Amino acid sequence: MLISFTNSLSAAYQNGLYAKNLKTFLSYEAKIPEDQDGLPIPERVETLELKDVSFRYPEQDGEKQEKYALKHVSYTFYAGKRTALVGHNGSGKSTLIKLLMRLYDPTEGCILLNGIDIRKFNLQAYRSLIGTTFQDFELFSMSVVENVILQKLETEEQRERAINALRESGALEQMEHLEHGVDTILTREFDDNGAVLSGGQAQKVAVARSFAKDAPIVLLDEPSSALDPVAEYQMYETIMELCDAKKVGAEQQKKIAIIISHRLSSGAMADTICLMQEGEMKEKGTHLELMQKRGIYADMYLKQAESYLQDAAV
Ligand code: ADP
Ligand code: MG
Repeated sequence: MLISFTNSLSAAYQNGLYAKNLKTFLSYEAKIPEDQDGLPIPERVETLELKDVSFRYPEQDGEKQEKYALKHVSYTFYAGKRTALVGHNGSGKSTLIKLLMRLYDPTEGCILLNGIDIRKFNLQAYRSLIGTTFQDFELFSMSVVENVILQKLETEEQRERAINALRESGALEQMEHLEHGVDTILTREFDDNGAVLSGGQAQKVAVARSFAKDAPIVLLDEPSSALDPVAEYQMYETIMELCDAKKVGAEQQKKIAIIISHRLSSGAMADTICLMQEGEMKEKGTHLELMQKRGIYADMYLKQAESYLQDAAV
């Protein structure tokens, strides 16, 4: 009892610490005006291309950022392909995701959707193509289902969609065990009646958001850092399956999936792995190709595997 209370306490504390959901994230970070016109978005997403993209964060408190967070990155993401972005902390992975979402525009170079500069599209319409889960998401004091669809529950269809998404992210069974099942109100306050989720459960609910949106572009920035390696592996397997070109019906859009993970074993499932180092995309290829190359990725992979084996032996 004491243990489980302490666990949920620390999880709640963590969730509070990471209390930055997309909305606050957007309002703090986005430097791009929301109310622009622009081209309508294409019916099908085929490619998302970074073309010699370099990026420096805008100046803060009058202080110019000298350092480039991204340097000459060129890469094309294809519909139906799953890409894992890996690299040490500060290597530019999250920055790349922020640029793809148009929270910022590149300092140099450009990003193209189906060959068209993303700055030409209506910003809101462009962002509607993207389902994201960030490492620092926030859950709200509303029901589990509403936390997934991110609006007040109005129709049975929305409820179905949320439940399916919870099933896909692996959260459904746990949510069904809450007092009012998926209609249980979540909270971070200790003194009211809502349920407080563990860090891992909260992450699965947050990932369900990007499934419920069913967007053609899925961007996941370390969505599983609170999960243990096995749970993370399972979550990645589901994500990979959902984005798998072979498994989507003919009328459905093949997804572009970009997933950041600090555990390389999870990224190994992706079609392509891109290794970032100090703002540059240094290596790209399948897990096998990069292992055979014996470069930075192979080195990191072997070191991580070794440290997991040591942990397991303790
Ligand atoms: P990663 O996600 O790979 O850990 P990031 O993309 O977050 O790396 O960071 C890349 C670089 O950009 C780092 O040097 C980081 O300090 C810097 N950076 C990240 N966010 C900001 C920001 N909002 N303002 C200024 N610099 C930032
Ligand atoms: Mg990051």
